[in-house]
Amino acid sequence: MTAPRDRRPRAAAFDRVLDALAGRYPPTMLGAFAGRLPAFQILIGTILSARSRDEATDKVCSVLFKQYPTPARLAAARPADLIPLLRPIGFYRQKASFITETARLLLARHGGEVPRTLDELTALPGVGRKVANCVLVYAFGVPAIPVDTHVHRIANRLGWVRTRTPEETERALAARLPRRHWLTITDLLVGHGKAVCRPLGPRCGECPVARWCAHGRARRPAPA
Ligand code: SF4
Repeated sequence: MTAPRDRRPRAAAFDRVLDALAGRYPPTMLGAFAGRLPAFQILIGTILSARSRDEATDKVCSVLFKQYPTPARLAAARPADLIPLLRPIGFYRQKASFITETARLLLARHGGEVPRTLDELTALPGVGRKVANCVLVYAFGVPAIPVDTHVHRIANRLGWVRTRTPEETERALAARLPRRHWLTITDLLVGHGKAVCRPLGPRCGECPVARWCAHGRARRPAPA
């Protein structure tokens, strides 16, 4: 009896797609923060970015960080103080509570530093797996795979994974994706998802990785 064929993509399948996307799109907001802002501001910016457009979040962050640049300054604020600043982004009331409480917990539990483990990060308000993985990647350069809706959708369209949720996608990618891509995959797929592989109406005809994409191949007209 022959062993079942391993259908998981090989390293080369990831290499050719991610190499082809490298340098094509501007960095995401968090990609631009990396190496420029302190870990605390990257953590707060990531919490604020959930379900908000990068452009709006970026503007809010630049105003917020001028007034509240450190955990001590933010912890001293009341959520009500922050609401006028956060109003341009989604879920601003909830996020105002999340970030003030997170600042307080950083002081109480971590001496004002941002922790570097997934468990400690996800214990903070407003920090789920995606936010925690973003902090690891963008604040600390620790290999992790932040999976948002773009990464989840595109990994499935490419045929790399067959998953129903971002959490499943993260696990499946962690088992298959060579570690050398972990720090960059999210920025590349988010850029590709905004510009070309959009949620509705992906532009497969102008996609630089269409030849390696299961979804793109399926949409190609059959030869006459
Ligand atoms: S071929 Fe289409 S579905 Fe596949 S990655 Fe490109 S835009 Fe997305």
